[in-house]
Amino acid sequence: MSQKKKVCDYKPSLENIYFDHSASTHVCKEVLDAMMPYFYEDFGNPNSVHSYGQKAAAAVDSSRRKVADLLGVRPSEIYFTSGGTEAANWVMKGVPLTREKNEVVVSSIEHPSVLSPAKQLAQKGIKVNFLPVGKNGIVSVDSLKKVVSNKTALVSVMLANNEVGTIQPIKEMAKIAKQHNAYFYTDAVQAIGSIPVDIKDLGVDMLSLSGHKFYGPKGVGALYVRGGVRLEKLIAGGHQERTMRGGTTNVPLIIGFALALERAIKNQKENAARVKEMRDYFVKEIFAAVDHISYNGDRENRLPQNASVTFYFIEGESLLLTLDMAGIACSSGSACSSGSLEPSHVLVAMGQKPEEAHGSIRFSFGIHNSKEQIDRAVCVIKESVAKLREYSPLWHEFVRAGIDRPKRK
Ligand code: PLP
Repeated sequence: MSQKKKVCDYKPSLENIYFDHSASTHVCKEVLDAMMPYFYEDFGNPNSVHSYGQKAAAAVDSSRRKVADLLGVRPSEIYFTSGGTEAANWVMKGVPLTREKNEVVVSSIEHPSVLSPAKQLAQKGIKVNFLPVGKNGIVSVDSLKKVVSNKTALVSVMLANNEVGTIQPIKEMAKIAKQHNAYFYTDAVQAIGSIPVDIKDLGVDMLSLSGHKFYGPKGVGALYVRGGVRLEKLIAGGHQERTMRGGTTNVPLIIGFALALERAIKNQKENAARVKEMRDYFVKEIFAAVDHISYNGDRENRLPQNASVTFYFIEGESLLLTLDMAGIACSSGSACSSGSLEPSHVLVAMGQKPEEAHGSIRFSFGIHNSKEQIDRAVCVIKESVAKLREYSPLWHEFVRAGIDRPKRK
C-alpha cells in the first residue's frame, strides 16, 4: 500500500527562514484537505441543477454563511472575489458618482489596489483628495475633517498598513464620512486574523479580505457590502454572486477561504500573542546588534507581526538579496511594489527621505517562527549590513564627517 504523502507539512528550519508573512502565508494542512474534494469528486458547477451542482452550491452557501457569521454580518452582504485587489477595484470603480456626489478621499498610504484606481479616477477628472499621514504612519482624523464634504461619495482608508503595520482610526473616520452621507471602505486585508475586527462597531460600509494573508489559498477573498449600499456590478455575466460578479464560482478556493478565516478568527488572540513575542524579540535583538537603524511606524498602534526597519546608508534591495542567499526571506516595502525602483510611497508619506526609504526592510512574522530563527537572522543581518556599509559611499562620507546620527528607536 502506498504511503499517503503529507502534502502540507510546513517545517520551519534554521536554513530556511520566512519573515514575509505580510506578503503571503502557506496554506495550512486542514484547509488544503478541506479544499481537495472540490477539485475532484465534488467538482460540480454550483449553477447546475443536478446533484453534482447542488452539492457544490450547498458548500458555497455554507461557506458564505460561515464567513458572514464570523464577521457578524448577513450572508447577503458577502461577495466572494479573487482577492483584495479585485475587491478594492470594485469599490473604487463601482461606487456611483453623481453630479452632487463626485469626490473621493483616499489615504496616501493605501495599497496600490486602491491608489491605482484612485489615480485613474483623477485622470478622468474626478476630484481625489489624498490624506496625509504623520511620521508615525497614522492618518489624522482632522485631515479627513478638512477635505470631506457633502460632495464626497467615498472615503477609503485601510484598517492596517501592509508596509509599516500601523492601525488606522477607522471608527472615528467612518463616523465623519457618515455625517456627510459618504460611503466608507476599509481594506482589512492585513488586519484580519492579526487584530480583532468588528465590522458593526467600526461602522464601515464596505470591507475587504484576502485568503492568502491568513493561511488560506491565494486568488480568493471577499468584499463585505452593507445592505443598502449602492455598488455597480463588477462583472456582467451569469447569476453568480447575485448577478454582481459573473463567472463560474471557484468552489474549492471559497471552501478554503472560509475555513482559513474561521481558524484565523478563532485563534486570533493566541496567534497574535505568539507573533508579537517573536516581533518584539527581533526588534530588541536587532537594535542591540546593529547601529544606525530606525523602527518605522507607531509603537503601539501596529500589527503584532510587523517590524519595518530602516538600515541607514545601505540599499534595502541589496540587503534583501544577501539575506535571501543566506536562506532568509523578508521584503523591501510590500510585495506589490517590489520590482519598482521608486522608494516606498508609505515611508515617503511618513517623511522619510528617498535614500532612507530605500534602506528599509519589512520583517513580518508568522506562527511558525522561532527565537532560534531570529537569533540566526540577526547574526546574518549584522554581518551583511557591516559588509554592505563597507561598499557604501554614503557610509564613508558619514564616517569621514564624524557626525554621529542619533540611534533612533
Ligand atoms: N491590500 C493590502 C493591504 C495588501 O497587503 C494586499 C496584498 O498584499 C492587498 C490589498 C491585495 O490583496 P490580494 O493579494 O488578495 O490581491
